[in-house]
Amino acid sequence: MMDEIIISGLKIFAWHGVYEEEQEKGQTFVINAKLRLDTSAAGESDSLEDCVDYGKVCLFINDFMRINRYNVLEAVANHLARKIMVKFPLIQSIELEIGKPEAPIPLPFDSVSVKVERSWHKTYIATGSNLGDSEEIIRNALENLDADENCRVLRSSKMYRSKPYGGVEQDNFYNSVFCLETLYSPIELLTRLQQEEKEAGRERIVRWGPRTLDLDIIYYDDLILERDHLRIPHRDMSSRDFVLLPLSEIAPYKRHPILGLTTLEMLARIKENYVLTMKEENE
Ligand code: ADP
Ligand code: MG
Repeated sequence: MMDEIIISGLKIFAWHGVYEEEQEKGQTFVINAKLRLDTSAAGESDSLEDCVDYGKVCLFINDFMRINRYNVLEAVANHLARKIMVKFPLIQSIELEIGKPEAPIPLPFDSVSVKVERSWHKTYIATGSNLGDSEEIIRNALENLDADENCRVLRSSKMYRSKPYGGVEQDNFYNSVFCLETLYSPIELLTRLQQEEKEAGRERIVRWGPRTLDLDIIYYDDLILERDHLRIPHRDMSSRDFVLLPLSEIAPYKRHPILGLTTLEMLARIKENYVLTMKEENE
């Protein structure tokens, strides 16, 4: 259970709405927010430096809502919630409710509001490359992602070399796994990673063929997702030594949410193959 900072009934005059009148005259919006974070450092040090300054959060909300213009409350809430988390990195998750007590509804009512919850999600991403300057390409992708305000790269494994998979004649692969915290939803993250693959000049010519950059979502918190174009955990991770070995370096005890096995346990299951195909770079 996380600690909370609670802001309630913050009133801000702004101009969001679909009707012309709302956009011209403006109206009062009422904000309720729960900021979830670990306050133990501030609790010990008794110093503002270790805190999320709720006064600054309120001023930030005010500026954001007055500078930007959105049609619907859903958009205000979505963008504002993410921006607060980017601006105040100690916050792990936020519950944000934006109410419109003066909404144009021709009936008596107290208020209408939209409430969203956003948080930093912990993901593990596997990288692969066997075309071009692979190490540089992978390093560059990590830098780009870390520079994206909706992402922060926490840890990365060493670089490994692996023999190609799937029987296509080609050069050895460079592989690594990194831990990425993100505000993106799973689908948004996939799109963001594909953009990075594209920038690295990846062309999908042969399945399992040579590629400048492959970025696969291994885990997204403990989420289990099964869509046509996105499956989390990654469907082949538990049999791929070039994923499990680097992953075991940064998340040895993390459990696969379906199989219930830790990274080390999955690695032990495929140990024979792993001796054959993997070697650590620099060894
Ligand atoms: P692979 O990674 O299996 O070598 P690709 O990178 O070409 O091959 O991926 C093919 C498709 O796999 C992508 O278009 C993507 O939609 C889908 N996919 C499904 N699950 C995932 C996941 N967890 N991470 C990344 N891509 C995924
Ligand atoms: Mg892929």
